[in-house]
Amino acid sequence: MTPMTPMTTSAPAGTSPESAGTADDLIAREERWGAHNYHPLDVVVAHASGAWVTDVEGRRYLDCLSAYSAVNQGHCHPRILAALHEQAERVTLTSRAFRNDQLPLFCEELAQFCGLEAVLPMNTGAEAVETAIKLVRRWGYATKGIATDRAEIIVFDNNFHGRTTTIVGFSSEALYRDGFGPFTPGFVRIPFGDADAVARAITPNTCAVLIEPIQCEAGILIPPDGYLRRVAELCRHNNVLFVADEIQTGLGRTGRKFACDHEGVRPDVLILGKALSGGFYPVSAVLSSRAVMDVFRPGSHGSTYGGNPLGCAVARTALAVLIEERLAERAQELGSWFLRELGALRNPVIREVRGRGLLCAIELTEPARRYCEALRDLGLLCKETHDYVIRLAPPLVVSREDLTWALAQLRTVFAMD
Ligand SMILES: *Cc1c(COP(=O)(O)O)cnc(C)c1O
Repeated sequence: MTPMTPMTTSAPAGTSPESAGTADDLIAREERWGAHNYHPLDVVVAHASGAWVTDVEGRRYLDCLSAYSAVNQGHCHPRILAALHEQAERVTLTSRAFRNDQLPLFCEELAQFCGLEAVLPMNTGAEAVETAIKLVRRWGYATKGIATDRAEIIVFDNNFHGRTTTIVGFSSEALYRDGFGPFTPGFVRIPFGDADAVARAITPNTCAVLIEPIQCEAGILIPPDGYLRRVAELCRHNNVLFVADEIQTGLGRTGRKFACDHEGVRPDVLILGKALSGGFYPVSAVLSSRAVMDVFRPGSHGSTYGGNPLGCAVARTALAVLIEERLAERAQELGSWFLRELGALRNPVIREVRGRGLLCAIELTEPARRYCEALRDLGLLCKETHDYVIRLAPPLVVSREDLTWALAQLRTVFAMD
């Protein structure tokens, strides 16, 4: 038997054994052949449906990470799957050298959903952030009149906007930055949650403020009430663009369409990704007014796969599912109840429980990894973020019964000490 020959497993009835080996074998192969740029929990997923995933040995787990909120619509949503199939049989890629019959509808539907005028499609989140950076810089020169190469973008401590060299260059996290310089200049980093710090940092060269309305990777950090509104007002008064990275917080996760909606803030530039395609295919987008978007001209920016008909068809359906299944409303209803129940957990290691919609966090006084491992052993998948925080963010199609079950597992784990 060569190493590449699939091995059958003795998976229990109800799971198909087409996977390539046992969990231990697959983990060993991944460690042997893959780059070691992640430290995953050792669960080898072979199937998923809705809020639940099944590993290669047939064990089921409630997914409380949702691929960092990329599968808000639930795993393998049948409508999105059907759209993917249907479109894959017609045409998948034309490049933007030609037009396709899905891109116009994707742009129209997404713009109307977001209340903005123009859409630029990309693929991954980091690419969309890079696109937004180029957009606001060019706006700064062409429209605001900033002198060549002097544009500044205000960013925040503990930000997470992706992994490209420019983006990690303005991160405050040594793990993301160290060893990857030299970095792109033109970013001014200030504390998150302090509007006066924004007021002080704005100069005539400031073209934009780039902000996550809730800092997710930093540990679900929710700024004080009124903060986003004040930052947006400061931007307006100073002719600075307010750029919201809602790649993780957007599309229903926090109980509204967008986390900025909680404060009635409409960003000048909105960055989306993750759940925009419901987990099937990478689709991201930057949205803005027509006037801002029109600083891009043919040749200014592009991507071979950006705006491809397969991605557009998938994203159109992912958006329709979000609207028709009222997933933001579900997140609001289930999330407020779930958060209250989490708040009733009693254990000295729990420092704080916080959240918005179905974006919840339990902050501990000690590293969260072993609690995540204990929860995994009970069938609940979640991942520590920034060492001390357990993020709980199930697909928005999760049922109240599933969450009731999750609470029972959490009570078991936090009763252990
Ligand atoms: C995940 C994420 C990104 C990067 O998206 P990728 O698709 O991983 O490149 C950017 N910003 C935020 C807020 C994110 O959560």
